[in-house]
Amino acid sequence: GQCITHCPVAALSARDDTEKIWNAISDPEKIVIVQPAPAVRTAWAEEANVPREMATPEKLAAALRHLGFDYVFDTNFSADLTIMEESAELIEHLTHAGKYPAPMFTSCCPGWIRFLKKEYPEMVHYMSTSKSPMSMFSAIAKSYYAKLLDVSPEKIVCVAVMPCVAKKYEADVPEVNSEPGIKDTDYVITTRELVRMLKAANVDVAKLKPEPFDKPLGEGTGGAVIFGTTGGVMEAAVRNAYYMLTGKNPPNPDNFIQWKWLNRWRETEFTVAGVTVRIAVTSGLGCARDLVEAIKNGSVHYDFVEVMACPGGCSGGGGQPIHEGEELAWERGNYLKDLDKRSKLRVSYENPYIQELYKNFLDKPLSETAEHYLHTNQVNWTMTD
Ligand code: SF4
Repeated sequence: GQCITHCPVAALSARDDTEKIWNAISDPEKIVIVQPAPAVRTAWAEEANVPREMATPEKLAAALRHLGFDYVFDTNFSADLTIMEESAELIEHLTHAGKYPAPMFTSCCPGWIRFLKKEYPEMVHYMSTSKSPMSMFSAIAKSYYAKLLDVSPEKIVCVAVMPCVAKKYEADVPEVNSEPGIKDTDYVITTRELVRMLKAANVDVAKLKPEPFDKPLGEGTGGAVIFGTTGGVMEAAVRNAYYMLTGKNPPNPDNFIQWKWLNRWRETEFTVAGVTVRIAVTSGLGCARDLVEAIKNGSVHYDFVEVMACPGGCSGGGGQPIHEGEELAWERGNYLKDLDKRSKLRVSYENPYIQELYKNFLDKPLSETAEHYLHTNQVNWTMTD
């Protein structure tokens, strides 16, 4: 199997912004919107001892609404958006061999970005320029959505609930913001901090009734929800790229990718519409290092590589509930895969609110507007501690 080590970023001392979030919620001048990451929905009720299957995403929406957020949206929405941009980038790379370095690396994990910047700075430009779902969400909330509400972006407070301490760092990187001087993601709390807020507000998780997420930034496909587990970003990107190349959905999304499991990563290759794609996936920074070394010394050749810093992906993130002696990343990940299988829409382009967003605001993936709001150059990111 994959490497099991401790989350590399769990030890970072984290700033707790819950007090500021309570203040924003009680400020009538502010519109406070919240986005929970895909991986949050598989772990948020563990401490309340509510079984995973009972603690549905719709009950999480109810819990967040109970805390007083004005709009309860979903990072799944912008995970679909990340896939739209990243799969367009992938096809651009595949069809212009030699123009870009290969492989393209996924860019949604700030732990991985930090690792590459520190250990392999000469390879940072291999990264997809697509921002993470969290950062894309906030960029759209303060532009497109602010316009829909007809308010200035300064009135909107973007709160993200993440499985991760490194996401606090990502939100603080000035180069991630779309407009100078406006912070796109105002506050990031971890799943554990959310659990504390729910306790402080006396939310009884077992008694919650399911409620829908708000629209239009609250809807995601099955491809989006698997972002929370290792291999999910790759899977979702390949589904969408297949559609972009053939005009059809992959015949069977569940076993379209046949992985070959190696010791430190998994790999496969396939050909779609005459284009051959070689891909690899790993998680945990020890495995990532071995994979990067193999790429550098030329012993492997891939077009697209997914790396998540935490073993098992975000499900096992350092901000998730901790249970002494138990490793739940894989069990949590399986729940997310199940949510994907039960989704009516499995491929990111099918999200009707994403289609609307492109039609009314972004035009098409990699357009000038999309580049402005949804892309970043990690090479220029200011490193902070
Ligand atoms: Fe954060 Fe997920 Fe990366 Fe872990 S794998 S550092 S939880 S983004």
